[in-house]
Amino acid sequence: METIDVFMLRKMIANAGRHITENQVLLSDLDAAIGDGDHGVSMARGFAAVRDRVLQSESADIGTLLIDTGRMLMKEIGGTCGPLFGTFFLKMAPHGRDRAEISLMDWSAMLTDGLHGVMLLGKADVGDKTMLDALEPAVRVVAESASQSGSFVAAMTGAAEAAVTGAEKTAELVARKGRGRYQGNASLGHQDAGATSVALMMTGFSEALKA
Ligand code: ADP
Ligand code: MG
Ligand code: MG
Repeated sequence: METIDVFMLRKMIANAGRHITENQVLLSDLDAAIGDGDHGVSMARGFAAVRDRVLQSESADIGTLLIDTGRMLMKEIGGTCGPLFGTFFLKMAPHGRDRAEISLMDWSAMLTDGLHGVMLLGKADVGDKTMLDALEPAVRVVAESASQSGSFVAAMTGAAEAAVTGAEKTAELVARKGRGRYQGNASLGHQDAGATSVALMMTGFSEALKA
């Protein structure tokens, strides 16, 4: 069965960070429209810390890599998104404990637990115009692909497309969570920043698998 190892996962996280960092101005501009305009800076700071202080160390297993990534993101991103992105990686970690490689089934279970962790912590649901509107469709595509014994590349290509579409569709939603909720109907027409970060993260994951 096809697997990915800890080296590939490091590459995927690094590439997710690269996409987010390269788009940090866009992310902050999106956040400025309906929030406080710090999202890109915060996310870039978090992923730079992961790149410099987590991915450099050769953590022995996938669980450790995900825990270290989650803790660093939680600490360095701060704000609303730090705990949410941090929790996403921390909740993925148990499936990778003492494992040097994982199957697509494992990866799907990880992403599902990560998604549920974010939902539980943020008390938001799909349709509230948050990161969940990109994350949930992406995770769903991976679960469908895993149940049909698809490949990592096919699953993550589909997940990235679903996340991008989901993020774009947040423009049609009224914000019910996060700072955007203070804008009410004025949040219409603006794409959510956190959902856009998820789309960039999934794109980074997918691209690393193809390289
Ligand atoms: P802050 O609002 O503290 O400045 P950020 O700008 O970093 O935080 O993040 C804003 C993003 O957080 C939003 O675009 C949205 O996607 C996400 N978000 C806000 N509240 C929630 C929530 N309860 N659940 C999931 N995501 C949320
Ligand atoms: Mg903000
Ligand atoms: Mg803020």
